Amino acid sequence: MHNAAFEALGLNYVYVPFAVPPDKIGTAIQSLASLGVVGVNLTIPHKELVLPYIDELTQEAKDVQAVNTVHVTEGRLLGDNTDGHGFWEPLREQGFSLAGETVFVLGAGGAARSVVFRLLREEAKVVLVNRTRERAERLAQDAMSIGLGEITTLPSDDTAALEKALRRSKLFVQTTRVGMYPHRELLPEVPLSALHSDLTVYDLVYNPVQTRLLAEAEARGCATMTGVKMLVYQGAMAFQRWTGVFPPTDVMEQAVLRGLNASKKE
Ligand code: NAP
Repeated sequence: MHNAAFEALGLNYVYVPFAVPPDKIGTAIQSLASLGVVGVNLTIPHKELVLPYIDELTQEAKDVQAVNTVHVTEGRLLGDNTDGHGFWEPLREQGFSLAGETVFVLGAGGAARSVVFRLLREEAKVVLVNRTRERAERLAQDAMSIGLGEITTLPSDDTAALEKALRRSKLFVQTTRVGMYPHRELLPEVPLSALHSDLTVYDLVYNPVQTRLLAEAEARGCATMTGVKMLVYQGAMAFQRWTGVFPPTDVMEQAVLRGLNASKKE
């Protein structure tokens, strides 16, 4: 998607993958300035491993304690985390306001951290549910420190409590790996009967684009959002940091969808 946007804007950059073993992340990241690389994205497990090598962190990266975007500027490494922005931007575009509203978040992994911090900054009341409840409690503890919104955790096997929470929610954010390729037949364990027509269901999974959860939600009259726009917007923000130009997100989105379609045919 980055290369499609560089081409559309006539910018002389190229985005390439580097397969870096975890024990080499320090050497790799400290070589970027000498190599003339303007920036990189990082994925699991590097998002956290890279922290000791970064010169300066944005507030977002500090909150989440993970870096997905590095900008090399004047020989220094700036670490950012654009996932929270990528998550929120498609909702903001639709005029969503979450102050005082209940948001049901399923999952407590890396993506959930970005989502939860952003939701609390929007002053939402977050109900957090994860298969491993201790992980949800740790995230709640960390997130409470920013002093906005509210967060409570529920056990994932208390169906009655989950039903009640979903019924009063405006937004349900699915942040787990359940339903992701190649296990597209899987559904997250939530009481589907509690999905209601005033609820928007946002699945962070982008492969497949239309998850089984989203199909079930649509059948129950919910508005739905796929993970594709989040992917595009977290990338667009990184693109802007590196080049100083905000990219055409429609071009990036088309490139993502083309890539996902091509991989489906393989
Ligand atoms: P992660 O840190 O490994 O966290 C995985 C989460 O999924 C944990 O909450 C884990 O629960 C839960 N989980 C995994 N298997 C499960 C199962 N069988 N049943 C119930 N819960 C299960 O992963 P991540 O980086 O947060 O990514 C999670 C998803 O978000 C992936 O599908 C990824 O593609 C997507 N994502 C999308 C974007 C985007 O731009 N759209 C960005 C980032 C991530 P436990 O704690 O109990 O293990």
